[in-house]
Amino acid sequence: MSRKLRMGMVGGGPGAFIGPVHRMAAELDGKIELVAGAFSQSAERSRAAGVSFGIDPERAYASYQELINTESKREDGIDFVVIATPNHLHLPVAEAALRAGIAVMSDKPATATYDEVLRLKSVVEHAGLPYGLTHTYAGYSLVREARAICASGKLGPIRKVAVEYLQGWLSSPLEQTGQKQASWRSDPALNGPGGAIGDIGTHAFHLVEYVTGLQVTSINAALRSVVAGRKLDDDCNALVRLNNGASGVLLASQVAAGEGNSLRLRVYGDKGSLDWQQQDPNRLRVKWQDGPEEIHHASAGYLSADSRAVVRLPGGHPEGYIEAFAVLYREFAEALASWKKGNRLPATLPGIEAGVRGMRFIERAIASNKTESWVEF
Ligand code: NAD
Repeated sequence: MSRKLRMGMVGGGPGAFIGPVHRMAAELDGKIELVAGAFSQSAERSRAAGVSFGIDPERAYASYQELINTESKREDGIDFVVIATPNHLHLPVAEAALRAGIAVMSDKPATATYDEVLRLKSVVEHAGLPYGLTHTYAGYSLVREARAICASGKLGPIRKVAVEYLQGWLSSPLEQTGQKQASWRSDPALNGPGGAIGDIGTHAFHLVEYVTGLQVTSINAALRSVVAGRKLDDDCNALVRLNNGASGVLLASQVAAGEGNSLRLRVYGDKGSLDWQQQDPNRLRVKWQDGPEEIHHASAGYLSADSRAVVRLPGGHPEGYIEAFAVLYREFAEALASWKKGNRLPATLPGIEAGVRGMRFIERAIASNKTESWVEF
């Protein structure tokens, strides 16, 4: 396909956090253009947003239903829709789009509940269309390198993982001030039943399975709502077991005062280990039991082909969050453009299976917390 893919967006209106990141990332590689959207639950704000983004004002719709109904009938209608709304809308928007023949790129978590994701999985399978899930960290070059190192067996059998995702922004009852992002995240009806465990725990969980290639088989999680009056968990300490016998620790907290977006993964084999930190994403530390510590730099010639395939700049020119997001968009766009020729989403791009795993993780962590015991996946 020689033309750019046409993107519609649901969410991402004025004051939104991740919508603007999606727009920047989607357009970074010149394969996608924003042409339509339902950017807000307010028709007026959606139109105003559309104008500010420079799209045809007629294609800034009052609702996602109008977006999908109208765009699916246009000859030059959208090729896919991106979902950047609070979680309770992920299933209805994805389902409406897929049933209308429109591909979907959704933000995580895939849905608000585990039951919903099972329904979504069957809708995706029935539609036979691309469904991508923006687990951002899968787009980092050195996360791809960590994944390649684990797959190579160089670390030896994986024995232990330690993943932590620590933020401090919900250390006070921010939702009580009406702050946009905190308000819906603290409301089970809009967010789903998992607070920090759903919002950031799912990223940590995904990173473990994505990098190691292993699956979590059981969990023992302690969830707390540290801030008085908060309806959902804001702190999680969990132990996990993996399907090769390895064990691990998963921490997810939004009341870790002073922390920004501190995601860190450490993986230990019997010969060596690796350590990647999101706030220092262009360096991967690899430590050997019988050798010196190595620091692998993004874009270096010695990295794996999978890692080098997703960098845009020579070494020493830092890439970060938006570029990682854009890697996922590039992979999605390439698959979508050649979908009719039988191409499919690459294994490097999270999709509906990752969505199901993430929702299972939330559901199992809550069940474990309730029974104060280990639960199987
Ligand atoms: P936000 O509150 O900043 O933005 C949500 C947007 O959705 C707002 O513009 C709001 O007006 C719009 N919206 C709400 N109802 C709507 C409707 N009915 N129709 C159209 N638009 C509607 O939230 P956010 O922090 O940007 O999070 C949005 C989603 O992105 C969540 O699912 C969140 O989990 C996810 N997220 C993912 C990452 C990541 O790293 N991949 C980071 C942040 C957020």
